[in-house]
Amino acid sequence: MTAAVLSGRELAAAIRAETTAEAARLSAAGTAPTLAVVVATADESSAWYVRSIARAAEQVGIACDVVDLGQEATGPEIRRTLDALSADDRVHGIILQTPLPPGVDAQEMALAIRFDKDVDGANPLSLGRLAAGLPAFAPATAEAVVRILEHHGVELAGRHVAVVGRSTVVGKPAAHLLLDRNATVTVCHSRTRDLAAVTSAADVVVAAAGRIGLITADHVAPGAVVVDVGTNPTEDGELVGDVDAASVAEKAGALTPVPGGVGPVTTALLLAHTVQAASALRRA
Ligand code: NAP
Repeated sequence: MTAAVLSGRELAAAIRAETTAEAARLSAAGTAPTLAVVVATADESSAWYVRSIARAAEQVGIACDVVDLGQEATGPEIRRTLDALSADDRVHGIILQTPLPPGVDAQEMALAIRFDKDVDGANPLSLGRLAAGLPAFAPATAEAVVRILEHHGVELAGRHVAVVGRSTVVGKPAAHLLLDRNATVTVCHSRTRDLAAVTSAADVVVAAAGRIGLITADHVAPGAVVVDVGTNPTEDGELVGDVDAASVAEKAGALTPVPGGVGPVTTALLLAHTVQAASALRRA
């Protein structure tokens, strides 16, 4: 069997088209949707990501303010900046870019992001609301996992999904979103005994561990659906996933590619969340 390719590009384009229309409608009504990205690092891959977000935002009609505090920024400075952006009526979405300077805790800082502007679900209170079934923005990557499966018509209700990874950015929120879709969810992590036995019993495997080639053909059931969230830089400067695509594609029924799978949907959802926040804040 050769696995079907579950691309994220068409879904991302559809989300961007809707976002562009909504951003234009809001701008015409006097609310220019605005996303603020707070940066406190000199990390090159982070700078690349921020530039790509800014470009993508501008393409759909969202203003993007990059607030660069420099790599020497302190916790109190970052928190004050997030407080000010939370209180600024001109700003509708806030992202706190990681990594942060040594000793500064991202979750602690993200508590200062007002929850209705928390478009990447970074504030721990957003994750709590999500877990409780209350309205909240999910981290865009976690939501992208579910959206890509739904877009390709993958049934989730009653099916067993194994999520590999339990970070607050991907694994945990993805597990909650999948539970909301009535999937039976197993969350795996570095202390899981016999990972292959767990994942190969699942109908759907979500790989979000940040380990190149962790998921091989031995980890998937014949015909299973595999979502590769991993984006891991190689020494050649390429990005590869957590899934050994060559072996898994021979056994799985469907597989998301890297790049071109979860990544583009994640960016599109961040922007969609920003216009949703702008629209809700305008009504408030
Ligand atoms: P993270 O915070 O490092 O978390 C990794 C998780 O994987 C942890 O829960 C860890 O378990 C688990 N893990 C690590 N090695 C494992 C192993 N050998 N077996 C089973 N579980 C293992 O990473 P993250 O931020 O969630 O990101 C995960 C991946 O997604 C990375 O490649 C990242 O680049 C990618 N990502 C992609 C996007 C996108 O837009 N496409 C966005 C965000 C992240 P413990 O908890 O036990 O340590």
